Amino acid sequence: MDTIQTVLAQPERLPISAPWKPKKRPVRDAEATPTWYSHALAARLPPERQRVQCPRCFGHGSGAGRVLVRITNTETGEVTTPGCIACWDSYADRPCPAHICHVCDGSGFVCPLCRGDRFVNGNFMPGHPEFGHALKCHVCTEGNGVNEDLEKRAITTYLAKHPAPQW
Ligand SMILES: [Zn+2]
Ligand SMILES: [Zn+2]
Ligand SMILES: [Zn+2]
Repeated sequence: MDTIQTVLAQPERLPISAPWKPKKRPVRDAEATPTWYSHALAARLPPERQRVQCPRCFGHGSGAGRVLVRITNTETGEVTTPGCIACWDSYADRPCPAHICHVCDGSGFVCPLCRGDRFVNGNFMPGHPEFGHALKCHVCTEGNGVNEDLEKRAITTYLAKHPAPQW
């Protein structure tokens, strides 16, 4: 324990709280997402073509959200919140493995029939032995797996059949 004398000899150590000053906050924060996120083609599909837009990441290739946001103080140019470094800098043109959307594998596009589920409702009538069962999507799966080429082709065909894109 300090004696009164020693405390008085060091006035800065007096147990009196300093007057509260509001913390200086950056005047302006600019928020940005990685280019692959903000410029994702699948995220900008018009409503009538959104059947091929990944429902999990809404076409962005990642559903990670705020983790990706990089905040820069526009006054000083200082990056105050870097966001996921791997998504921004290491991978740069695609989401990092931790943040990539597992439904569309980062492409933002999904099979127009099953929308990335890989299964479709069998559409059997009640009473049918298969009623309520899901069937493997015949558009994008082959054998026991997903056939990426088939899926890509289905997406391209779907887009080609619909009104010309705006990009
Ligand atoms: Zn990431
Ligand atoms: Zn996705
Ligand atoms: Zn499918």
